[in-house]
Amino acid sequence: MKRDGPASLPSVDRLLNLPRCVRLAERHGRAVLLDTARAVLAERRALLETSPEAAQADPEALAAECEARIEALMRPSLRPVFNLSGTVLHTNLGRALYPQAAIEAAAQAMSRPVNLEYDLDGATRGERDAHVEAWLTRLTGAQAAVVVNNNAAAVYLVLNSLARRREVIVSRGELVEIGGSFRIPDIMASAGCRLREVGTTNRTHAHDYADALGDGTAAIMKVHASNYAIQGFTTAVAESELAAIAEQRGIPLLNDLGSGTLVNLEDYGLPHEPTPREALAQGADIVTFSGDKLLGGPQCGLIVGRKDLIAKIRKNPMKRALRLDKVRLAALEAVLRLYGDPARLAAELPTLRLLTRTRTEIRAVAERLLAPLARALDGHAQARIAECTSQIGSGALPVDSLPSAGIALQAQGKRRGGAADALAQAFRALPVPVIGRLHEGELVLDLRCLDGERDERAFVEQLARLELPPRRT
Ligand SMILES: *Cc1c(COP(=O)(O)O)cnc(C)c1O
Repeated sequence: MKRDGPASLPSVDRLLNLPRCVRLAERHGRAVLLDTARAVLAERRALLETSPEAAQADPEALAAECEARIEALMRPSLRPVFNLSGTVLHTNLGRALYPQAAIEAAAQAMSRPVNLEYDLDGATRGERDAHVEAWLTRLTGAQAAVVVNNNAAAVYLVLNSLARRREVIVSRGELVEIGGSFRIPDIMASAGCRLREVGTTNRTHAHDYADALGDGTAAIMKVHASNYAIQGFTTAVAESELAAIAEQRGIPLLNDLGSGTLVNLEDYGLPHEPTPREALAQGADIVTFSGDKLLGGPQCGLIVGRKDLIAKIRKNPMKRALRLDKVRLAALEAVLRLYGDPARLAAELPTLRLLTRTRTEIRAVAERLLAPLARALDGHAQARIAECTSQIGSGALPVDSLPSAGIALQAQGKRRGGAADALAQAFRALPVPVIGRLHEGELVLDLRCLDGERDERAFVEQLARLELPPRRT
């Protein structure tokens, strides 16, 4: 077909009247279609001027291009995935899932006016944290509580409120980095505090703390080594001993627990993780922890401890900048209420339910899924049931792992590594992306977090859409 320059491009009107574009306007509105059509035509015009042979001016092709662009624009960017990575509280996959009660409370708070800062009994202005403070003090034994956007904000606010322009003593064994953007030395600096490091990476003694105390000391801080463990020749100072040193000086002991759980995990057959109640009982004056790690609630940071210190923290003008919105506050209250009945917690709280699933239970899921998976793989990869171990994630109990089961997929072909990558990519390209874990040249799908009949059905149904890379020999 002969092309004769820019003149052969259809007009915007002609393009918009093509049936494909009419349907697009019905689905997505005329405004976005018009913008897209103009942009596509302008690009083609420019291209026709420079390389007329390469430019496609066929109206149907232009309409198809508009459709592709609009569909890409309208597809949600944030969408559900299957977390088969083996990490239950996966920071990059959104950590804890809300329990049903929290979903309902959050939906209410989103769609109706609520008494967020409105005291229904009196004329005084209500405090937004009051909705959760009673639960937090009850569940931790603290005198008072404040909630903020996340635990990083909690640590920042505590340091900035109690130790600005002064020194905070931290053991060198506890200068942690969590996921790159939260590092104790950096958060100290941005909170306006001077970090006073004591001891060594593996050993810190009581006298190291005592020797570092001076007029400029505002606090001693203990940080939970969330994502690593120091083993071998090690010494750390017991919290009660640290508390005694701090108390003698009249300065607070701060304890950043990181994950923090409100129950004894051993009661649920899991390894022990320190609780805020224990930290306070051992003498901490302030304890900080996350809402969306082991607690299993919305993203937030909880600060519990001594009433006078909490009052100071609450008065910091930064509190408003870091405060929690009504939606997450409603969800948090609903989650805390579930902790009122620890006997039902494992059934009601998704995080605990997923963590307490047994290998036998998970293996049964693998057995149900093996045949449909093998069928979908159609000889491109071999599938077998495999025992594996899951992690809690988000810095809780980094060295403990949970016995789990899943399906290991081994791509056929010589270049095993590359083939496993391609397989992982194919699973990520599904309508609900499946996120597995590469392990020794295999793609492992840990089925701990594939929970319930509905999830299993959705997983199997979309396997028909799996587009496998061409077989290599
Ligand atoms: C996870 C963690 C944080 C950061 O908490 P976010 O809720 O992710 O902001 C801070 N300190 C410790 C010890 C942690 O484990």
